[in-house]
Amino acid sequence: ARKFFVGGNFKANGSVKSIQAIVDNLNNAKLDPNTEVVISPPSLFLLSTAEKIGNGIKVAAQNVFHKPDGAWTGELTNKMLTEHGIEWVILGHSERRTIFKESSEFIAEKTKASLDAGLSVILCIGETLEEREAGKTLDVCCGQLKAVADVVQDWSKIVIAYEPVWAIGTGKVATTEQAQEAHAGIREWLAKTVSSEVAEATRILYGGSVTEKNSGELAKQPDIDGFLVGGASLKPAFVDIINAKL
Ligand code: 13P
Repeated sequence: ARKFFVGGNFKANGSVKSIQAIVDNLNNAKLDPNTEVVISPPSLFLLSTAEKIGNGIKVAAQNVFHKPDGAWTGELTNKMLTEHGIEWVILGHSERRTIFKESSEFIAEKTKASLDAGLSVILCIGETLEEREAGKTLDVCCGQLKAVADVVQDWSKIVIAYEPVWAIGTGKVATTEQAQEAHAGIREWLAKTVSSEVAEATRILYGGSVTEKNSGELAKQPDIDGFLVGGASLKPAFVDIINAKL
């Protein structure tokens, strides 16, 4: 069985005080022991968060560069993360793809480098509204995955996050049917392209306007194995999303 997984992507939000409050809230909460939880503060807060967080929660970087230490002004390397006990990294977020022009091939290269360094990867994929309306949802998502499948053999440390771009930060959550359909399609593609074992074992998270109000229904879908939460991960109700299966 796939262990339910909930990630909190803080994006570029948070102050020393507000992140301390989030950590305190999570440390004091009663969390579903059957849910794996990872939070991803801005890079400046990775270490202090990793030091303070408990309750079995792990910390993820929101991005990393794929090359070894060197002349890459503004970047962090995989070694810096692993050396500090950071076990997870989010790669391919739609904000990286769109605002920072990261291609699927670049993201695949980064995924490979992080896996090679021993990190686990939350690999984000998803279509725009225009692509969905043109009936291209699965083509786009599977194309983004194919770039990774071309360079990565071992999927055991990858968690996929399906995040339709039109649902991110918009308050427009995908319907349970839309999400389940996309997740099932992605799993089918994995079975066909990678292997049935990988398709069966890989967690596929839904992300995009997840709240404590819609997480319960979404969590009941057979192919939704958890969430990647943005805005709501900054609020105390994040605990209710972690506990969506209870
Ligand atoms: P929101 O939950 O704020 O829509 O963001 C989703 C997301 O992008 C998580 O990575």
